[in-house]
Amino acid sequence: MVTPRSVSAAQYGNFLIRIFDEWVLHDVGQVFVQLFDVALAAWSGHRPGLCVFAETCGAALALEHNGDVYSCDHFVEPAHKLGNLNIIPLQALVNTPQQMRFGQAKRDSLPDYCRACEVRFVCQGGCPKDRFIHTPEGDPGLNYLCAGYRAFFNHVDAPMRFMAGELAARRAPANVMGHLLRQKAAAREAPCSAPGATPPAPVAVARRPNTAAAQPASQGG
Ligand code: SF4
Ligand code: SF4
Repeated sequence: MVTPRSVSAAQYGNFLIRIFDEWVLHDVGQVFVQLFDVALAAWSGHRPGLCVFAETCGAALALEHNGDVYSCDHFVEPAHKLGNLNIIPLQALVNTPQQMRFGQAKRDSLPDYCRACEVRFVCQGGCPKDRFIHTPEGDPGLNYLCAGYRAFFNHVDAPMRFMAGELAARRAPANVMGHLLRQKAAAREAPCSAPGATPPAPVAVARRPNTAAAQPASQGG
């Protein structure tokens, strides 16, 4: 439920960006932030550790005190009851067609707006429970936090690319801190005050190309 006291999507995105900008200069390898780890996994072509950012979901079931099992703790309601643990083994409940449909609907119900999004490979439309606004084209099913997610994931593109490259080369992602400091120093020393000179590009802001090849083979979570 959104109230006048709720954080807006833009505020959420700004919060993430400000925290990230501190972290990426000072704390990589020392402080671990779950969403940043999720992002690095996506940029590295790996499955995220959070179902919210997985392509499909359905492996995080909810168990009630009486043995009732539901598709997810955000969907504890009659339509999403899978059965009772006292009658049906858990493994059978996890593998029911109903639960398979629930998990795959996360991907299959994405609006076209998300399918065309340049950061879909990491966002995947977010959690279905938050998809209650409309796209600019008027389609239902867009995530309330979309604007924040989109701003944040685009903002971290350059440093995430760098860290993913370091990981691929079996070097420490924390090398990004020195890399960014050197970039900043070079930008300060560049003769940008000369008439007609081009100002240096901002650090850590770049857009990822929207290509199918850019999307890792993410699996359900
Ligand atoms: S509905 Fe949301 S919280 Fe539940 S499993 Fe899917 S992504 Fe995770
Ligand atoms: S950033 Fe917005 S448009 Fe892009 S995948 Fe996420 S929710 Fe969809």
